[in-house]
Amino acid sequence: MTASGPNSGLSAPLSPSLAERVRGSYLGLAVGDALGATVEFMTPREIAHEHGVHRSIVGGGWLRLKPGQVTDDTTMALALGEALLQARAIDPGAIAEAFSAWMRAKPVDIGHTVRAGIARYRRTGDTCMPVEEMSAGNGACMRCLPLAIATLGLDEPRLRQASRLQAHITHNNALADAGTEAVMLMLQGLWRGETLLLQLKQQVQPLAQAYPAYGFRRRPCLNPTGFMGHTLRVVFEGLFDSENFEQCLVTVVNRGGDADTTGAIAGMLAGAAYGERDIPPRWLQALDPTIRQQCISQANRLLALAPFELAASP
Ligand SMILES: [Mg+2]
Repeated sequence: MTASGPNSGLSAPLSPSLAERVRGSYLGLAVGDALGATVEFMTPREIAHEHGVHRSIVGGGWLRLKPGQVTDDTTMALALGEALLQARAIDPGAIAEAFSAWMRAKPVDIGHTVRAGIARYRRTGDTCMPVEEMSAGNGACMRCLPLAIATLGLDEPRLRQASRLQAHITHNNALADAGTEAVMLMLQGLWRGETLLLQLKQQVQPLAQAYPAYGFRRRPCLNPTGFMGHTLRVVFEGLFDSENFEQCLVTVVNRGGDADTTGAIAGMLAGAAYGERDIPPRWLQALDPTIRQQCISQANRLLALAPFELAASP
């Protein structure tokens, strides 16, 4: 890793650095969101009929997006990242305020559970939703990336505590929590240069043992809903059955359903595994330039300040 002088080019290409992998996750989130949004709520058969294999960032979809435009997955993650940077701490009150401001700015899309959680925060000032046993939506996982950077260097119990402080503002469900925390731990492992195989053994297999809804490879999950079990099964299938960023993302978004969010989460993880240089240049060029710049800036600033302290419990 250290032999990077002008005469070191005889060996294999250098593995991506931590910073390149973290930026790969941020850009991967936005690219996956923009790519998947075109086919959100379509079935695989409808996608095949309309696009063949969908592999271009062209906008459109039910939200009638401009080419390169992203949705709530990316903009809510950016709102969370700015709240962490401004507070210089993991402060659920600051995060809830940022989510409220994000909703006030009329995002292009907003999930039902997210809207309900923010509305409840505005009414009560409470940053923890009541436990929801019947639903385990993917809305807290889709925005977890900045917090995975902010908790780099904290031990696992504190990472899990931090994840719940942010997740429970809108989503409070044990199955969803476990999935989001597994994604954060996978991101951190991949950023440190650990292999995908190690993540499969250390994070995914124990997760699926504890929560069988996450058991993937039973059969391909098609047309995934916003349920975390569907979301992460599609993401894991794409991640572990592909060999580069593009192949992973194309596999995932062509499953249709909640394709902007499966694309966003797959993009974070594949960007961590392969680094920013493996993201196809045509996708980076298609991405909204302001969003692209915000992703790079947040990745660098969060990494420079990590780990962040947890604000004292109220
Ligand atoms: Mg979305």
